[in-house]
Amino acid sequence: MPDKQRPVLIVGGGTFGLSTAYHLALANYTNVTVLEKGTSIPGPQSAANDINKIVRAEYIDPFYSDLALEAISEWSSNPVFQPYYHQTGYLLGVSGAAPELSRYTLSRQLNSIQKHPAWAGKISTVKTRDDIKKAAPALDGEMPGWTGYFNTFAGYAQAAGAMQALYKEIVRLGVKVELGAEISQLLYTEDNTTKKRCVGAVTMGGRTYLADSVILTLGGAIGQTLPSVGHQILAKAWALAHIQLTPEEAARLKGIPVTFMRDLGFFFEPEPGTGLMKISAEGAGYANYVDGVSVAATEEQSNFLPALAETKIRCLLREALPSLADRPLIDGHICWCADAADQNYVIDKVPGAEGLIVATGDSGHGFKMLPIAGKWIKDVLEKNGQELPRWRWKDHLDASVSDRHRSGELQDLKDVARARL
Ligand SMILES: Cc1cc2nc3c(=O)[nH]c(=O)nc-3n(C[C@H](O)[C@H](O)[C@H](O)COP(=O)(O)OP(=O)(O)OC[C@H]3O[C@@H](n4cnc5c(N)ncnc54)[C@H](O)[C@@H]3O)c2cc1C
Repeated sequence: MPDKQRPVLIVGGGTFGLSTAYHLALANYTNVTVLEKGTSIPGPQSAANDINKIVRAEYIDPFYSDLALEAISEWSSNPVFQPYYHQTGYLLGVSGAAPELSRYTLSRQLNSIQKHPAWAGKISTVKTRDDIKKAAPALDGEMPGWTGYFNTFAGYAQAAGAMQALYKEIVRLGVKVELGAEISQLLYTEDNTTKKRCVGAVTMGGRTYLADSVILTLGGAIGQTLPSVGHQILAKAWALAHIQLTPEEAARLKGIPVTFMRDLGFFFEPEPGTGLMKISAEGAGYANYVDGVSVAATEEQSNFLPALAETKIRCLLREALPSLADRPLIDGHICWCADAADQNYVIDKVPGAEGLIVATGDSGHGFKMLPIAGKWIKDVLEKNGQELPRWRWKDHLDASVSDRHRSGELQDLKDVARARL
């Protein structure tokens, strides 16, 4: 068990980083510092820097369904998170033109919750337009061939709002958060008598932070700071954009369920106050290969909407909300995460470096775990290793060739055609 007064350094103030700081502070660790490259929380390059994120517990693997249930319980009851959780329901399906893989993934997701007692009476199948209209009367498109189900025990979280609230809470609990602190390298000691040990990190500005334990929570950027993470993690991005609604349109769409057609993409109810509606395009995503390894691209390189994403977003709107289908798409960009070879997180000690822990491999589904993820990372610190085989370091796996549940082909960023907006 580590001495709770000794310094712990968390590098990366995104979803996993803030959650770790929160759980360490709750457990009376008194010397915790978070270093975050962005000058605000959420940082511009955090995958949590977003209006909203889906909170649902459908997983092909029931292990994650149970974790997501625990997270939903915190979203619903913990006063830090509760104001940002909206249980609008979740309409999950496929469009009439969906490929077989999307249909198969949908059926596996439904199976994961269908017989679970937590969803008794909370799921209804959707086979016709009338079924959809019962779940979401404001959707007025033809929705041709849409099938799936409606789950009332799910919704979304206001991502940036929840991150800001958690930031305030950890500062109140005594955590130091350094913004604008981009790490350039980790610091190690090594001699003939001791093992290699990570003892801190140095920022781009040349400032050194020393610690007994260093926890890396760098999302899609993990490969830059920890190249030894290798092929088990693939930095991968997906595209999203917003449309601006009038106050009347926003009022009409208030409270609609998160609507996700697995082959096209998903949208949320408009953001209260701004009337911005977020729409994401689904697909196999984008990689950014540098010397054979995919690393998160810079903010500038990520500030565009791919042409294929625009096509999917407009198709989704034309089918569900035709009056919005030709609306200008604003804030279009791609957002990076750390895709793991087997879709399991990697939360473990880094082999060959004492004092260094990594928490990565969110695989595009980690935000909902914000209230609880830090507990798993604290466990690795306290038990000096990962007890769960599925969350161990596994550099024999290669994320670029693993089994996928999303349709389409992964595209390299340099080959991606841009939308002309
Ligand atoms: C397009 C998209 C949509 C998603 N939708 C959902 C959803 O609907 N529901 C859901 O549950 N999850 C969703 N996710 C996943 C979720 O956002 C991520 O799982 C989660 O944010 C990952 O947390 P993290 O802490 O690993 O990474 P991040 O939140 O990305 O945090 C990493 C942090 O490290 C910082 N950093 C990077 N380099 C440095 C450095 N050198 N020095 C210091 N700091 C640094 C970054 O600025 C960032 O703040 C989505 C992800 C993407 C990409």
